[in-house]
Amino acid sequence: MKVYISADIEGVCGITDWSEASRESEAYPEFRERMTEEVIAACEGAIAAGATEILVKDAHASGRNVFAEHLPREARMVRGWSGHPYCMVQELDATFDAVLFVGWHSAAGRGGNPLAHTLSSKTIASIRVNGTLASEFLLHTFAAALDKVPVAFVSGDEQLCADVRQFDERIETVAVLRGEGASTVALHPGNAQAAIREGVQRALTGELLSFQSLPERFAVEIQYIDQRRAYRSSFYPGASLETPTSVVFESEDWFEVLRLLQFVA
Ligand SMILES: [Zn+2]
Repeated sequence: MKVYISADIEGVCGITDWSEASRESEAYPEFRERMTEEVIAACEGAIAAGATEILVKDAHASGRNVFAEHLPREARMVRGWSGHPYCMVQELDATFDAVLFVGWHSAAGRGGNPLAHTLSSKTIASIRVNGTLASEFLLHTFAAALDKVPVAFVSGDEQLCADVRQFDERIETVAVLRGEGASTVALHPGNAQAAIREGVQRALTGELLSFQSLPERFAVEIQYIDQRRAYRSSFYPGASLETPTSVVFESEDWFEVLRLLQFVA
């Protein structure tokens, strides 16, 4: 079994403040370590379920957070960003059996995590797809569906996990923290890692899910924080300015939406 893991930091156990997600900050090493431990736990769960190959995409900020030497030998890593529209699932292809999202977070415009955002926290106020608030989970689950690979497991904040189950109740979820305004209530990190290990093993044992289906048409609305960014983005081919701070784009091809986001997010 070949498994793809995409790891973020804003949904790891106990993370509460942006400084804890930033390389430049003194608070960062603790959460870099915790992100690594949660990825290790996911790898161990996958291996226990029969994974023989694991590709880990470090998908936070610089893409250079996880300590590779601590991972099991079955794992290889993608670090940094190529600029490919698959973004947080770069190098995913149809040869994989399942995708796991570890340390993921609620969407911009949603509560449930003090660090909720979608793609860029500096430029984007929210993204809607077919009228529904879109999280990074939704954007990249649709990317995986282009290659017919199912998302089988998600860990992160409680709100994201609830949104994931509403999207597809077959996906195994592990909530490791709950955001309450600017605060969080979290599990003990050791218990979070154990729950991730067990959750991943459950998700990958027995018959795997079929991949998540794609809508036939995509109407995307990007709400920007700054109207200058919206104006500039409205010149992307096929995009148009809907309000002074928002841009709309329609396509039948999800890859075209991913291509748009690569240039206007
Ligand atoms: Zn991140």
